[in-house]
Amino acid sequence: MDIIHLLPDSVANQIAAGEVIQRPSSCLKELVENSLDAGATRIQVIVRDAGRTLLQVIDNGSGMSATDARMAFERHATSKIQSAADLFSLHTMGFRGEALASICAVAQVTLTTRRETEEVGTLLEIHGSEVIRQEPCQCAVGTNMKVRNLFFNVPARRRFLKTDATELRNLMQDFYRIALVYPRVQFTFVVDDEVVLDLPVGTYKQRIEQIFQRNIRKQFSDQLLDVRVNTQIVNISGFVGRPEAASKGNPQYFFVNGRYMKHPYFHKAVMTAYSGMLQADQVPSYFIYFDIAPQAIDVNIHPTKTEIKFADEQTIFQILLSAVRESLGKFNVTPSLDFNREGDYEITSRSSVPVDAPKISVDRQYNPFKRSDYQPSERNAQVPQNWKMLYERAKTENSGQNQIQTSVQAELELESQPVVKELLWQYDGRYILMPVAGGLMLIDQHRAHLNIMYQVFLLRFSNSQSCTQQLLFPDTLDLSADDAVLLGDLLPDLQALGFDIDRIGPESFVINGVPAELADANGVRVVVEMISEVATIGNAREQWHSRLSLALAQKVAIPYGKQLSADEMADLVGRLFKLTSPALTPDGQKVSVLLDNKTIYSMF
Ligand code: ADP
Ligand code: MG
Repeated sequence: MDIIHLLPDSVANQIAAGEVIQRPSSCLKELVENSLDAGATRIQVIVRDAGRTLLQVIDNGSGMSATDARMAFERHATSKIQSAADLFSLHTMGFRGEALASICAVAQVTLTTRRETEEVGTLLEIHGSEVIRQEPCQCAVGTNMKVRNLFFNVPARRRFLKTDATELRNLMQDFYRIALVYPRVQFTFVVDDEVVLDLPVGTYKQRIEQIFQRNIRKQFSDQLLDVRVNTQIVNISGFVGRPEAASKGNPQYFFVNGRYMKHPYFHKAVMTAYSGMLQADQVPSYFIYFDIAPQAIDVNIHPTKTEIKFADEQTIFQILLSAVRESLGKFNVTPSLDFNREGDYEITSRSSVPVDAPKISVDRQYNPFKRSDYQPSERNAQVPQNWKMLYERAKTENSGQNQIQTSVQAELELESQPVVKELLWQYDGRYILMPVAGGLMLIDQHRAHLNIMYQVFLLRFSNSQSCTQQLLFPDTLDLSADDAVLLGDLLPDLQALGFDIDRIGPESFVINGVPAELADANGVRVVVEMISEVATIGNAREQWHSRLSLALAQKVAIPYGKQLSADEMADLVGRLFKLTSPALTPDGQKVSVLLDNKTIYSMF
């Protein structure tokens, strides 16, 4: 006897439903996606008992003809693709034609629908895949899909559902994933007769605000930075949260071609862009929308799975990483410091995106080693761990000392802390940016090095540990009578600095070597400059040492425009803060500026 037979459709659909419709939220997702596919601009969701007794979606979309309404509930019935080839050019949310067949297999469904071109609509009632009635009816244009008593005929599945609170959370979460992609569609979400979400038409940012502001005291969207990059492979747009707004459980969303997705690898790209800015348990919010050719992603995946495969994941990783980095970077360099007041150069943001750049005036009296007395406790709690590398806040807080440290204490701390090179950034070929506990320090690279080298040369007069670079071809120097007298007096000092000079006549000298730091310089010219340096101060010999040291330091100090490696910057900063007076150059110019937290916070 033959024992193999085909399962009746109702049984086959119930089995399939187990895959597609696992819980109320998956049913709701299918219904809302159908409404969007039908071009609806207004969608109302009504839920009762966390979707157990009622899930209803009302839209103003295209509606269905009487025949289509009936067909819609057949397995693999879809208006969205004709052939397998169409799978590769999908622009709709659904395409399998499985959802309605699955839903009607495990629930009591009542549909009313009408097309704009028809006077009369259709009412269709199906319980457990069985058509109860189909008849003409009066109804609005669009579709009203009422799903009652989900899993009424699958007790095992019903028992498997979680508490109402959990199922409702799932419903809301799945709903957010859709609503965040369709800000041009108006949504209302009604739970047990109460409107819990009313989302008017708006921009992407407004939609994010509408959904998430309720959880957060501050304007949520104020904490978001724009991300945008267009490449041949992918277009990426959206928003990332400011690092200081990171906290536990912030919303994080990826979408590809209008569909929510999880992507642990791309998540890593975003998190990498934030490295060094976040505490271990804090996460930034992000809402990132990928726009990519449908052929470059695998959409034909399981309907309830949210992982999506991309053809070129490594490249997209890099694109995403640099796009997010750029956004975070822009936000860091936005301010334009008004150095003009100091009679110095001006920095302006080179950002291509127009930003409101507040002008900050730098306090002339400012002492960068005095800790800011601005310490609002709420803000402080948000300052990420790594930003306080120079001062260990806990130390001062625990010891009960108040916020203001003496400059001596601060300097001692600066001295003893190792510089974390990963936190240093070079800006504009001029400044080293360094996060410190009280804010962000900007250090002038040339002046910092000048300060260091000044000390190096000055020390040579007392410890005579100079290092001379012997010249391959010694230079002869013929001087006027008065300069020859002066150089004669200067010889011991120049020797201490590392010059090797012999007198070969009353007005003639030969330069055999120069300080190692000046190896590339023209020896004759340097010596002539040294002579004119001291000539201007005449016989005030006690000033000669500092004048010579400063002149040499100016020659050898790192110029503006020189790119520095992380190690070079760390070395420079480390040496700077070991000096007894790192804040000002010997000729009184400011070496560093602190943008304190108060100022930074007040810019936003
Ligand atoms: P799919 O969405 O994969 O095509 P579904 O089972 O979800 O499969 O829907 C089957 C068909 O029913 C759709 O292709 C569409 O033609 C029609 N349909 C479903 N919901 C709606 C709706 N809200 N408005 C208009 N047509 C709909
Ligand atoms: Mg569908």
